[in-house]
Amino acid sequence: MSSYDVAIIGSGPGGYVAAIRCAQLGMKTAIIEKYATLGGTCLNVGCIPSKALLDSSHHYEDAVKHFEEHGIDIPGEIKVNLEKMIARKQAVVDQTTGGIDFLMKKNKIDVYQGVGRFTDATHISISGDKNSAIEAKHTIIATGSKPSTLPFIKIDKERIITSTEALKLKEIPKHLIVIGGGVIGLELGQVYKRLGAEVTVVEYMDRLIPTMDSGLSKELNKVFKKAKFGIHVSHKVKSVERNGDAVIVKADNKKGEEVEFKGDYCLVSVGRRPYTDGLNAEAAGVKINDRGQVEVNAHLQTTAKNIYAIGDVVKGAMLAHKAEEEGVFVAETLAGQKPHIDYNLIPGVVYTWPEVAAVGKTEEALKAAGIAYKVGQFPMRALGRSRASMDIDGFVKILADQSTDEILGVHMIGARAADMIAEAVVAMEYRASAEDISRMSHAHPTFTEAIKEAALAATEDRALHI
Ligand code: FAD
Ligand code: NAD
Repeated sequence: MSSYDVAIIGSGPGGYVAAIRCAQLGMKTAIIEKYATLGGTCLNVGCIPSKALLDSSHHYEDAVKHFEEHGIDIPGEIKVNLEKMIARKQAVVDQTTGGIDFLMKKNKIDVYQGVGRFTDATHISISGDKNSAIEAKHTIIATGSKPSTLPFIKIDKERIITSTEALKLKEIPKHLIVIGGGVIGLELGQVYKRLGAEVTVVEYMDRLIPTMDSGLSKELNKVFKKAKFGIHVSHKVKSVERNGDAVIVKADNKKGEEVEFKGDYCLVSVGRRPYTDGLNAEAAGVKINDRGQVEVNAHLQTTAKNIYAIGDVVKGAMLAHKAEEEGVFVAETLAGQKPHIDYNLIPGVVYTWPEVAAVGKTEEALKAAGIAYKVGQFPMRALGRSRASMDIDGFVKILADQSTDEILGVHMIGARAADMIAEAVVAMEYRASAEDISRMSHAHPTFTEAIKEAALAATEDRALHI
């Protein structure tokens, strides 16, 4: 039986990054993955394929709606070739997961294909093409998450689907009903809306992306309404039935009246659940809590002292970069270092267009905590860069402490917000004030000038271009 300093179960962004960092720190490392390809949800059926389809559909929408205004005439009809679009997405996925194979080899990490199952706290059996067993001084559980659903919904994977199926549809839906106006619902809803589907979003809470700052929800709602999405917030879905090629969704609205939606596909995107099936965690003394998460302490150590857990399978945001940070954190802890993660500074991004991105506290959270703050906000439409590319929706909002001017939260919606949020993360990591940002040169013309202007507005209410 092979022995390792550390074994990692699951090869998503948490697991494979943990493996690389462990190997870099000199540990003999194994990684176990039940699927045929490495990379987990993110690379195979999550971040990467969804962004590939968002990019393709964005190009199509631009060609149909905006090229003419740019002075580009395309003779003939512009058509979507969905099969080719999905094949390109798959090629991007294959290339990216292949890259992880390369990284495992480069770092001399042993890869085991199969389901990892604890037999005790230091032994794992692997059942796959070849059955085997290994011994590990330490194990990192990085088994991720799976789509969750509602108790009365039967996901048939044909018409009533999750994100996994939505990434490989064979036809463009005529009418896609999306249950859940969170990240997945809006990103994939926008893909199919751009490709020509009617899209109706049914959300339980009183606004889209309800965990983000309400200003962002409001602006995104405005943009989506303009694009003719059907948006029904404060609707409690109570049944989803398939009738041949039709799907009927029934919900109660705010007044308690029943509302019926009829479509040909229904995407269920009401969140994800931590995944520990088949792990036999109890044999290792690892506690799973009532929410299905592996219970961990502040060091991400489970109830078994030599076993740690990271990523979607533990508490916190279900984000690839959060899982990666935790992977590095545990590897460095095992090497005797004293790493640190500031969870408040993990940014969240929605890759719709306009993109939505945020870091730190929302206005709602600051109010609830009784913290006095000031707001500096600047609209994208006032930037020359935005007008040049016709991306005028959105704004940047900076929340700063009323007395010290320290930046407490940055919330933005607009073109390239996903990339721009990095500036806010750096500033907040160094505990910058709004004035600090307002005194830094920002290249002209760029979208980032909105950050400087919002900082000026927060500091002394003296934005220059509005
Ligand atoms: P996962 O990526 O879920 O990986 C877990 C792996 O463990 C899987 O490969 C699984 O097969 C394997 N496994 C499970 N049990 C066993 C076992 N017993 N033995 C062996 N292997 C096992 N996040 C972002 O930050 N940005 C995005 O843009 C983004 N887009 C997304 C889009 C979609 C459609 C979805 C569904 C998710 C998206 N996410 C995004 C979320 C992101 O994918 C997850 O947060 C991330 O993948 C979590 O990483 P992880 O390593 O914890 O687990
Ligand atoms: P989510 O939590 O973002 O959104 C789920 C939405 O469904 C919420 O708005 C919730 O109020 C709503 N909802 C819950 N029950 C409902 C009901 N009965 N009827 C109607 N609406 C209901 O979850 P998701 O969009 O499924 O995504 C899952 C996870 O994957 C998220 O945690 C997210 O962080 C991650 N993800 C991230 C990205 C990204 O970073 N860009 C992209 C996709 C997914």
